[in-house]
Amino acid sequence: MRWLRNWRRASILKRSTLDEDLWRAVLDRYPFTRVLSGEERDRLRERVVLFLHEKSIVGAGGLALRDEMRICIAVQACMPILNLDLDYYRGWIEVIVYPDEFVAEYEYMDEHGVVHQVEEPMSGESWLTGPVILSWADTQLRGDEHGYNVVIHEFAHKLDMLNGDANGFPPLHASMDRGEWSRVFGAAYERFNERVKQGEPTGIDPYAGENPAEFFAVMSEAFFEVPDTVLAGYADVYRQLAAFYRQDPAARAAAR
Ligand SMILES: [Zn+2]
Repeated sequence: MRWLRNWRRASILKRSTLDEDLWRAVLDRYPFTRVLSGEERDRLRERVVLFLHEKSIVGAGGLALRDEMRICIAVQACMPILNLDLDYYRGWIEVIVYPDEFVAEYEYMDEHGVVHQVEEPMSGESWLTGPVILSWADTQLRGDEHGYNVVIHEFAHKLDMLNGDANGFPPLHASMDRGEWSRVFGAAYERFNERVKQGEPTGIDPYAGENPAEFFAVMSEAFFEVPDTVLAGYADVYRQLAAFYRQDPAARAAAR
């Protein structure tokens, strides 16, 4: 049914009414889209049009979403899949956007078998086969020196969850070595936590040390926002991410 899907997508692209001025204004906003080649911009535009068509981006908690806000979210969400396929975001539909941090309620059982109810303010959340949830205010905080980007972060979790619970191990391409990925990420994660413990600067959001899933998501944000920092401090992680995303953002930025 691939031909049917491709035919459907082609007709969606043909009928696209994405506002050209709005599109340019949004691209201008992000350093990682400003350095795209013409061909890459065209590809990103296609991804964004299809993303907006196939996903439902809805406001919650009183947030009225404008087209421009939807495009901002779609552009950032589609950067990681620029050279992959929209099917990498298969199996779920909704992106829910709150005006600000939202409260997630969940239960967990501790080692004594006691169940705890937790309420925690969140800037973003990704559910396995469920929605991506974002705080709009936090999407505006992107681009600090650590390369913070909550949209890319949550969508990296979605890629990680293509093969089950988020664990920092997304489905790799056939050309990639699974053992190598584990070795590189495992060693970098240990090293990172050691540095955090010693109070050494890491260049990366310390939240990456939370667990291997967060390490992958935070490194992915940084890979797109501050690729030079990742390349300089975590070259082997950078190379794995470049192979997975099929992009080399540091080289792209240098070429411009
Ligand atoms: Zn996370």
